[in-house]
Amino acid sequence: MTAYRYCCFFAIYIFGWAFYGQTSENPLTDFRQHVDALCGHTLQGRASGSLGESLANRYVWEQWNTGSKKEKLSYRFTAQGNTVNSEMVTAFINRKSSKTILLGAHIDHLGLGGELSKSPGKNEVHPGADDNASGVAMLIEMHNYFTEHNSICNLLFVAYTGHELGLYGSEHLSKHWKKRWKNLCLVYNFDMIGRMDTLHPKLLYSSNSDVNLMNSSKSFQLTKESSQRCEILDTKHFLSVPCYTFTTGTHLDYHKISDLPEYLNYQGLYEQFLFFRELLAR
Ligand SMILES: [Zn+2]
Repeated sequence: MTAYRYCCFFAIYIFGWAFYGQTSENPLTDFRQHVDALCGHTLQGRASGSLGESLANRYVWEQWNTGSKKEKLSYRFTAQGNTVNSEMVTAFINRKSSKTILLGAHIDHLGLGGELSKSPGKNEVHPGADDNASGVAMLIEMHNYFTEHNSICNLLFVAYTGHELGLYGSEHLSKHWKKRWKNLCLVYNFDMIGRMDTLHPKLLYSSNSDVNLMNSSKSFQLTKESSQRCEILDTKHFLSVPCYTFTTGTHLDYHKISDLPEYLNYQGLYEQFLFFRELLAR
């Protein structure tokens, strides 16, 4: 793409956010807005290290309201013989507590396809609406709620990158921020939470902890799976503390070009938001 065309795309994109990026009165509209923005054609499927990933990070950064300390974390990893330079956005809400809860969701996806795609032969944008714009939308809304409401302890929000290539972002974070996180007490991970069944609403979670979450009020069934998923997703690098990873389950559009915003259950996302915020509210 020529520099001129690139500048035009970029200008339209930023203008679009400025125009469209205000939060609405309707929480369902906010979730939809985040997912649409993260799946936009300009982001080109958010492959790790790509311009699309940077634009996705920028979107999250701009949507996070004031009241937290935001930081960007640059790092580098080697995957499939390529060196990838990536950056993760983080936001810390300081409650002056001795303990910190980490809330994470991976923001990267498959870009235009590649080995992990299940749409063979398609060199097209893989939008990743459920995987994992849904989780990032939750990260934005939870952050913006807790900058204005009290929580049980400090909260650290992280949009992981390098996930699809091998969980490199969460690994980097666990290794290099250990000092800062010496009081890390709990990890929540949101990965593919946008496809809650409308007839039989259900949320699955996998955890390395025996403490169950059944007592909190909710409008859906909450089902605990084996701890396996917790051991292979971004929670993998934090298993020395209790970790919970949430999903509404896999589906036929997983890793395909058809993982689109219109197939997500936005009411279901909002119901989960009410549940998660109750878990963390003081
Ligand atoms: Zn995912």
